[in-house]
Amino acid sequence: MKDKYKLLKQYFGYSEFREGQETLIDSILSGHDTLGIMPTGAGKSICYQLPALMMEGITLVISPLISLMKDQVEALNQAGIHAAYLNSSLSYNQYLTALRYAKEGRYQIIYVAPERLDTAEFLAFAMQVNISMVSVDEAHCVSQWGQDFRPSYLKITNFIHALPHRPVVSAFTATATKTVKEDMVCILQLNNPTVITTGFDRKNLFFAVEKPKDKYQALLKHVHEFDGQSGIIYCISRKAVEEVCENLVKEGLPVTRYHAGLSDYERKHNQEDFIYDVKPIMVATNAFGMGIDKSNVRYVIHYNMPKNIESYYQEAGRAGRDGEPAKCILLYGGQDVVTNQFFIDNNMDNNELSDEELEVVKERDRERLKKMTFYCMTNECLRSYILMYFGEYGDNYCGNCSNCLTQFDTIDITEPALEILGCIRESHERYGMTLIVDTLRGSNNAKVKRCRMDENVHYGKLAHLTIPRLRQMINHLILNDYLILTTGEYAVVKLGVNAKELLDGDSDVTVTMKMAKEYEPVSKDSKKAAGKARVSKAVASLDDVDRDLFEKLRELRMELAKKAGVPPYLIFSDKTLTQMCVLHPSSKEEMLEVSGVGEVKYERYGEDFLRVLTR
Ligand code: ADP
Ligand code: ZN
Repeated sequence: MKDKYKLLKQYFGYSEFREGQETLIDSILSGHDTLGIMPTGAGKSICYQLPALMMEGITLVISPLISLMKDQVEALNQAGIHAAYLNSSLSYNQYLTALRYAKEGRYQIIYVAPERLDTAEFLAFAMQVNISMVSVDEAHCVSQWGQDFRPSYLKITNFIHALPHRPVVSAFTATATKTVKEDMVCILQLNNPTVITTGFDRKNLFFAVEKPKDKYQALLKHVHEFDGQSGIIYCISRKAVEEVCENLVKEGLPVTRYHAGLSDYERKHNQEDFIYDVKPIMVATNAFGMGIDKSNVRYVIHYNMPKNIESYYQEAGRAGRDGEPAKCILLYGGQDVVTNQFFIDNNMDNNELSDEELEVVKERDRERLKKMTFYCMTNECLRSYILMYFGEYGDNYCGNCSNCLTQFDTIDITEPALEILGCIRESHERYGMTLIVDTLRGSNNAKVKRCRMDENVHYGKLAHLTIPRLRQMINHLILNDYLILTTGEYAVVKLGVNAKELLDGDSDVTVTMKMAKEYEPVSKDSKKAAGKARVSKAVASLDDVDRDLFEKLRELRMELAKKAGVPPYLIFSDKTLTQMCVLHPSSKEEMLEVSGVGEVKYERYGEDFLRVLTR
């Protein structure tokens, strides 16, 4: 039997497996059905591609997205593996030719759209050849409970049943709640499968929340910091995309844009400019990104807060797929909450729902929005917040998010907390945050008067605090169950489970809160000295390398990519270029030691890169 380590190096250029990969591969090779749940960028593809090279016959990969198939097949061809795809982007003649080649045994791996599975030609083909594995990518699409249910995925089992021999079935996804996981096993009829779940955490991503007064200036500063590198900027509306893009173009930056209001032609064109690094910066609405597999995106900036953590993590997760450090920055503004609230209240997407069902959906969306808003408010570890949202254990200190790198003072806020809670209790828990803040600060605006809040005994008691500070405290009290923010159309602040104990004047109870001491993050080194940082970087990051050399390699990569007509990251990833800068290989043997340089790629490109490296 072929040696899997040898193949890993030869075709993919890697010398070690990542977490979960080897177990999944061994399981498939021993003939067991296999389910892999791994976050984006963890390296799922190799888990079925490598066994496909080792097994007799053909591996069919079922994948929902045409763009993804094209990318994967191009990547395989670059690595010297014979692969093809069958989907609606091919003309009928191209399709028949591809099938004929497949029958002749030219391909080891064939990507196919689920819609094809019950067509006569495809079935006839499948009966004649030896299919050793069916691998289902994005397997959560079988579940109605997942985010992107695809009815055509339900055809997979019938197809498998129709085959003369049952192949090994493997399935992969990045997202799976318990229900979705059960659905995948059950609907795909996986036979006593090996199931591997490697957590949600993406250790190479740095998370930050900022609340700048001038968002555009903050954005500009970041974009300049990432000088020339690839990034995505997500905006909440088409209008915002247009504005931000136009302004960045005026700065002379290589940006393009994407939203549902553009023509098909322009969207396709702009997307390609981005993927091929012609315009490495993309400004887009959330319509952009499905199936974008660009591995060298170094930053994702959210110009507006998205509607929930699911969307945020998915969009932010498009950064750093190559495993190199990348940043995910959210620029929060209070208006973002209002806009999202408006979208929820005017939900037009679900017009087949009854009023009652619609109300349930809205309620759920408001609850999700609230959790997203708290992400922007918390002073605790951002990564832990996300992991806990998805039901995973976070250890409250990652050392790689803006909160973990900010120095905080812990202050006692028992006194103001008592005023806040008292004010809310006395006004019978009827009002929203703004009115409570105005009351406590002693405002005499019309609403305060109309609601007679100026008669509340707590009126004006916290006049010495600024509005943001007071809001911060109220948010902190909400996060810690002293208060509840209702999710109705008009959010009201009510007392939470912990309020009573505090209000009853039990003198032992104190409320503390972390307040940022300084805005600038402290350096990682000083944290390390304090024995706290737990991030270790096995390899040098882009920050540490010779930038001039890196740029030269990048230019060469661009040239070769243009010649080959493929995106630059399919030639070599940023990570591979970084390693070249660190290791300075000067011979074929040394070049092959670089992670990401396999034999076929060496034959194609190795010497060109060696020439630059040894100049
Ligand atoms: P996923 O499908 O899980 O999102 P991919 O299969 O696209 O992830 O892999 C993400 C990146 O990680 C790719 O650039 C891939 O080449 C790289 N990769 C996969 N396995 C390894 C490995 N064992 N060592 C180093 N890099 C790897
Ligand atoms: Zn953290």
